[in-house]
Amino acid sequence: MDKSQVERVKTSSDIVAVVSEYVHLNKKGKSFWGLCPFHSEKTPSFHVDPDKQIFRCFGCNKGGDVFSFVMEKKGLSFAEALTELALKAGITLEKEKRQSSSEKKIYYDANRAAMAFFEQQLASSRGEDARRYLSGRGITEETIRIFHIGFAPDSWDSLSTYLKGKGISHSAAEKAGLIAPRKSGGFYDRFRGRVMFPIIDLTGEVIGFGGRVMGGGEPKYLNTPESPIFEKKRVLYNLHASRNQVRQGGAVVVEGYMDVVSLANAGFSSAVATLGTALGEDHVRLLRRFTDDITLVFDGDSAGRNAMVRALEPFLASDVIPRVVILPQGKDPDDIAREGIGIWNSFLSSAQDIWDLMFHESFSRYDPSKIRGQNAILKELAPMFARLHDNSMRDLLTQRLAVKLGVSPELVLKRIRPDVDPAEHRNTPDAGGERDTLETTLTRLMLSERRSVEIMRTSKMIFEFQNKVLSRLFNYILEHGSDAIDEVTCPDEVRMTASKIMALGEFPGDTKKALIDTVCRFMSLAFDEELRKIQGELNNAEKTQDRNKRNELLKGKQEMMLKRKNLRSHVMEVFEKR
Ligand SMILES: [Zn+2]
Repeated sequence: MDKSQVERVKTSSDIVAVVSEYVHLNKKGKSFWGLCPFHSEKTPSFHVDPDKQIFRCFGCNKGGDVFSFVMEKKGLSFAEALTELALKAGITLEKEKRQSSSEKKIYYDANRAAMAFFEQQLASSRGEDARRYLSGRGITEETIRIFHIGFAPDSWDSLSTYLKGKGISHSAAEKAGLIAPRKSGGFYDRFRGRVMFPIIDLTGEVIGFGGRVMGGGEPKYLNTPESPIFEKKRVLYNLHASRNQVRQGGAVVVEGYMDVVSLANAGFSSAVATLGTALGEDHVRLLRRFTDDITLVFDGDSAGRNAMVRALEPFLASDVIPRVVILPQGKDPDDIAREGIGIWNSFLSSAQDIWDLMFHESFSRYDPSKIRGQNAILKELAPMFARLHDNSMRDLLTQRLAVKLGVSPELVLKRIRPDVDPAEHRNTPDAGGERDTLETTLTRLMLSERRSVEIMRTSKMIFEFQNKVLSRLFNYILEHGSDAIDEVTCPDEVRMTASKIMALGEFPGDTKKALIDTVCRFMSLAFDEELRKIQGELNNAEKTQDRNKRNELLKGKQEMMLKRKNLRSHVMEVFEKR
């Protein structure tokens, strides 16, 4: 997908029209205002500028172009937002890999044929045991039909013979993971003597299978191996069928496809499951296309602190707080579904926010009235706050932990960012704020002025950003140039940040002068920091009367001060060369 296509979609999409699908906008002068869809508010601070085709919220500070609006609002990747907006604008995107999509079709066809074969086998006399197994678990004929459940007979070649008869090549069936080569030549069926659950993607294609043994064989569950059409981290079982319910009532994530089937069988059809992997960031992104209301269900046996931490992991990068239901020891959703759907629903309604559980868990394991306990709780919870991308959520959690422990928020903050000494922060009250502004300005200059990128590249100066997100964007531009932001290969997070900065508009005034000023201030803050460190060591050396050390430090201090003094002329020199 080349850049001109992105440009075309961008110019053909009207941001006012796109935003209006979600926000009631009122025209005031040249621009539009409405209630922000990203945070809750009573007076409009959400602003759309039709001339610049950008949006910005003055409340929560979100902003960007039409792509980032759709990405943010619907939880899409850039490529997905592009496809969606192109569709709306009536633009046909040229597929970059026409070849590969027709290649994929061969695998889809192989899988679809295999699904028909497995279903046929289940209905035949060979499938008698499998039918008995399913009915033993209370699975009705209707459920079998809806989920296209089938049976792979205990034979080495019945599927491969069948596929051959249907004109599907061995190589296609092999690449689809249905058959595997024998050492002695020829192929054998991968799934044998298993109840088969086809896995269907959002476009309705059969992309793989899960097979479960009926007796005590190993492995209990066997999935299609990973392939270009089957990536476990991007698939949720049953999402294709349940998406409308998920959109309306939220998503319920259970641990296995058998749970999904049993629940649907009992009348609860909006459960989805991962395929033998933990829920990951891609899964969360997939779900967020339909809902932000996500409930995770844990079997009593598998729940525990580690499971909770693992479950929280993929949500740290989003502002979604999942809810959690922990089933009683020894029970899984299948057991509960069979006891009755009312019992299942009452478990669901008892779901708790994952952070509440995490707090509760730590506070019940340690004694918060003892220093030792306080310290342990702080050690456990604070590092997780540090990894949240959402600032306001981090503030809320910090505040809450501080109150519950009866300590100051600064103390919690210190655990979050151990390198920042809050006391030092107090001496220079705006250091954090100024640093952030400088980092933003520097990045903004790089985005708006191609020349700045050139200059910065050749300056060979090293900039250590405190803001991780900005740092990634800054380094991305340095490496690939500012035009690369609109490439499909640009990471979504980087693009979002860029688009937010671009929503600030053109950089006002003389960019070259601004660049020199910003770089100088940036470097001088770094020098100050260095000087503070030296001064600290110097004080120690005075105390211990270490003369050699003291002299050495004094010399370092003088050099540093000289550098700081000559900073501006040095920077000018570097930049004038260009
Ligand atoms: Zn907002």
